[in-house]
Amino acid sequence: MAKQKKNRTLDALASLCKRRGFIFQSSEIYGGINGFWDYGPLGVELKRNIKEAWWKDVVQANENIVGLDCSIIMHPRVWEASGHVGGFSDPMVDCRACKKRYKADNLCEDQGTELIEADGTFELPEGIKCTACGSNDLTEPRSFDLMFKTFVGPVEEDSATAYLRPETAQGIFAQFSNVLSTARQKLPFGIAQIGKAFRNEINPRNYTFRSREFEQMELEFFIEPGTDAEWHAHWITERLKWYESIGLPAESLHQDIHPEHKLAHYASACTDIAYDFPFGVQELEGIAARGNFDLSRHAEFSGKSMDYFDQEANKRFIPHVVEPSAGVDRIALAVLCNAYREEWIPKGGGEVIQGEIGKRAPEGYEMRTVMRFAPRVAPIKVAVFPLLKNKPELVNKAREVFDSLQRCWPCAYDQVGAIGRRYRRQDEVGTPFCVTIDFDSLEDECVTLRHRDSMTQERIAISDLIATLHGQLA
Ligand code: ATP
Repeated sequence: MAKQKKNRTLDALASLCKRRGFIFQSSEIYGGINGFWDYGPLGVELKRNIKEAWWKDVVQANENIVGLDCSIIMHPRVWEASGHVGGFSDPMVDCRACKKRYKADNLCEDQGTELIEADGTFELPEGIKCTACGSNDLTEPRSFDLMFKTFVGPVEEDSATAYLRPETAQGIFAQFSNVLSTARQKLPFGIAQIGKAFRNEINPRNYTFRSREFEQMELEFFIEPGTDAEWHAHWITERLKWYESIGLPAESLHQDIHPEHKLAHYASACTDIAYDFPFGVQELEGIAARGNFDLSRHAEFSGKSMDYFDQEANKRFIPHVVEPSAGVDRIALAVLCNAYREEWIPKGGGEVIQGEIGKRAPEGYEMRTVMRFAPRVAPIKVAVFPLLKNKPELVNKAREVFDSLQRCWPCAYDQVGAIGRRYRRQDEVGTPFCVTIDFDSLEDECVTLRHRDSMTQERIAISDLIATLHGQLA
């Protein structure tokens, strides 16, 4: 029953995302391709807002954090040094009866248990069954390489093999010395990057949550050895605050602290920030204290120094790093899930009820679908309507207001249908404000400003509109 409800929420959201142009299946006209997604006109704005909010708060607001934009394909030795070649794999399990393939740890988790791991080999606990057909005829867990391979140059031979990066972080480590010598930074300082990453996931699922092509926002924050715990705690606090700033409520965010026996041998701590998705509490971002593992490995494999020279202390060492690593698409999905509401509005006025998703509104109520995006991430900030489309004086005035607002924010102009229906269209895409120009506006230079969440309306002078909206959208 709970599962059905969860599926209903995700199905309803996916349907809205397709209908209103947030997310489409990649290559849909050819039947789609599993694990790949396209963002439509509104989705692309939503994602850009998330990336811009991160860049602004993580990079631009901190004078000791600088940006970087590395190539997706790098020298193959990068991935040997990082441990990805030969080491970046997931255990998978096949159902012999129906041929469905699973990520072994997910299959166990879904059935309330854990994959057994001993000395680098994996085993399924007793009683695990195929979720799709119920059979217990499953293969032993086998390693599955997650790296996407390609060839550089005209000849497809082994020496030309390269990889699509499975994370953006290694570009930062590989360019550490260049950034250090050009950005004139002292420890502690960070290098940040946003970009695409690729993983040939065994079982892409939960809509866009686990995709094969996705975007990451990663910060490598370089610190003095011994300060790891302090900076790790600092970044957990900062990142939790940031998630709230884009509208995810504190109570929907969780910290998953990795127990010591599950940490990589070089890491001293790792905490995931997870969100309460309709399909369970799942990771949005991992924050790891990785010691000096990455820089040391690149120093070893490249033969180039990755040292930092501390002039005051007159000592040379390889810095440690704390890495907050987030996925843009997962955050976008969390923002979409959090925003989606089906509300039941009493026809004669009165209190609005939060409806049950997928259920019809009771007698005497009408349903509205609304995306309650935080203004910061809403794809469209303001919509402008002339009351009637066949009155040139109203249309001209509305276009004038629209032009002035569009210089400040992404806006929509709509003159089709009754005003109520135009409000509903904007509610469905999460536009926080609508502005209506009516006959009175021509006389008094005022408009009706309508608020998405409360559905209240107020009369406001056109000359005050930009300042008021600036205040409310901030
Ligand atoms: P998971 O355990 O869910 O596979 P991970 O721990 O392997 O994730 P990291 O390697 O820590 O993930 O990557 C950092 C972030 O990149 C994740 O927190 C997530 O937001 C994002 N990410 C990783 N893999 C995917 C994917 N297949 N699809 C979408 N986002 C992803």
